Amino acid sequence: MQENPASENPYEIAQRQFDNAAKHLDLKAGIKAKLRLPKRELSVNFPVKMDDGSIQMFTGHRVQHSLARGPAKGGIRYHPDVTLDEVRALAMWMTWKCAVVGIPYGGAKGGVICNPKVMSQRELERLTRRFTSEISLLIGPESDIPAPDVNTTPQTMAWIMDTYSMTTGYSVPAVVTGKPIEIGGSLGRREATGRGVMFTTRDALKHLGMPIEGARVAVQGFGNVGGIGAQLLQELGCTIIAASDSQGGIYNPKGLDAEDVMRHKAETRTVVGYPGTDKITNEELLELDCEVLVPAALENEITSENAARIKARVISEGANGPTTPEADAILFDKGAFVIPDILANAGGVTVSYFEWVQGLQSFFWTEDEVNNNLEKIMVKAFDDVLVISQQKKVDMRIAAYILAIDRVATATLLRGIYP
Ligand code: NAD
Repeated sequence: MQENPASENPYEIAQRQFDNAAKHLDLKAGIKAKLRLPKRELSVNFPVKMDDGSIQMFTGHRVQHSLARGPAKGGIRYHPDVTLDEVRALAMWMTWKCAVVGIPYGGAKGGVICNPKVMSQRELERLTRRFTSEISLLIGPESDIPAPDVNTTPQTMAWIMDTYSMTTGYSVPAVVTGKPIEIGGSLGRREATGRGVMFTTRDALKHLGMPIEGARVAVQGFGNVGGIGAQLLQELGCTIIAASDSQGGIYNPKGLDAEDVMRHKAETRTVVGYPGTDKITNEELLELDCEVLVPAALENEITSENAARIKARVISEGANGPTTPEADAILFDKGAFVIPDILANAGGVTVSYFEWVQGLQSFFWTEDEVNNNLEKIMVKAFDDVLVISQQKKVDMRIAAYILAIDRVATATLLRGIYP
C-alpha cells in the first residue's frame, strides 16, 4: 500500500494518533475537540545581520499545545525543513510525553527555518537572540520553558537565557533547560534522553524474555539521542551493529565501539568512513537483521512502504514521530514491540524538569541522584503503559496515549472551562 503523501504531515499524524487512542476513552466531544488543537501559536519573521553585512529574513514558530498540567515545555529546532505543522505536532507530542512520565508540564515546541550548517557561530548567536526576543511574549520560567532539539545545543540555551535575563535585569536560569552546567545546567541532562532510551529498551527486552547480552542494535541518527543511547546500550552488553547520520550509515555485524564512533563523528562530522565498517544507506539500516532498532533522527522514517521489511523485534523511538500510524499497524501485526516516542525519549524532558526544579531552588543534585530519579520515573512509566497495553489489548503507543490523554483530560475537567 502506498502512503498518501498528505498523510505524512506530522500534525495530521499526531491528530490521527490522538483519535486512535481517544476512541478507548470515554471523553466528551468538547474535550476531545479541545485536546486535538494547539492552545496558542506564534509565528515570527525577523531580520538577522549576517557576517557579510547583509540582512536576511528568517521565519520561526513557537506553539503551545496545552498548559493544563503546568507550564509548557519543549525544545527549539533549527532546520531548513521546519514547518508550522511540524512544530504543532511536536508541541502536541510534548504534552503527551510530559503526562506519560507524570511531570507537571504542558507541551510546546519551537522551530526556526534555517540551515545552521552554513551559518557561523556569530550568525547563530544573533539569530537565537533575536528569535528569543520575538517569542519572549510567551516564554518564561512559569509559562513556557524551551530546551535543545535538532541542531540546537547547550550554547543555544545559554544565549536564550542571557537574552531573556537582559530584559528582566537579573538571571533567570529556569527559563530554559539543557543549559551548560556552568550556568545552572543539570548533571546528566546531556545523556538523559539516550539514558531513557536505554532504560525502556532494557525493560522491553526483559518483558519479551529476550537476552540483553549480545542483543544486536541498529541506530539511525547518531546524534545526542542515538549516539548516547548506543553507548549506554553497549555498556549493558548489547552489540551495536550499525549507525547512521544524514550522510549515510555504517555496518559491522561483529559490533562497533559506540564511543569511538562518536569521536570519529565529532572529528569528521559523520560516522561514514569509520574504519572496519561497510557503508550502508539509511534505508538499509532500518531493514537490518537485528533485535533492536533505534530510529533517532527525524519523523516519518518507518512508513507503510518499509514497515513490512523491518526485522527488529523491538523498535525504540529515540526520535519524535519516526513511525506513521499505517506502519504502526503493520508492525503490531508482525509482533514487533514499538516503544513509542512519548515514552522512549521522555528521559530528556524528565531531567529537564529536574534541571528546572534545581534552578528554581538554586540547589543542585549529584549525577547519581539525577540518574536514579530518572530511572525510577522511566521504569514506572514503562510499567504503567505496559499494563494498559495488556489490559486493553492495544499497542504500546495507543496505551501511552490513553494514559497521557486521560491525565490531561482530567486536569482540564478539574480546572473547568473559563469563564
Ligand atoms: P542531533 O542533532 O544531536 O542528532 C540528530 C542526528 O540525526 C544527527 O547525527 C544527524 O546527522 C542525523 N540525521 C539527520 N537527518 C537524518 C536522516 N535523514 N537520516 C539519518 N540520520 C539523520 O539531534 P537529537 O537531539 O539527537 O534529536 C534526534 C531526535 O530525537 C529528534 O527527533 C528529536 O526531536 C528527538 N529528541 C531529542 C531529545 C533531546 O534531548 N535531544 C529529546 C527527545 C527527543
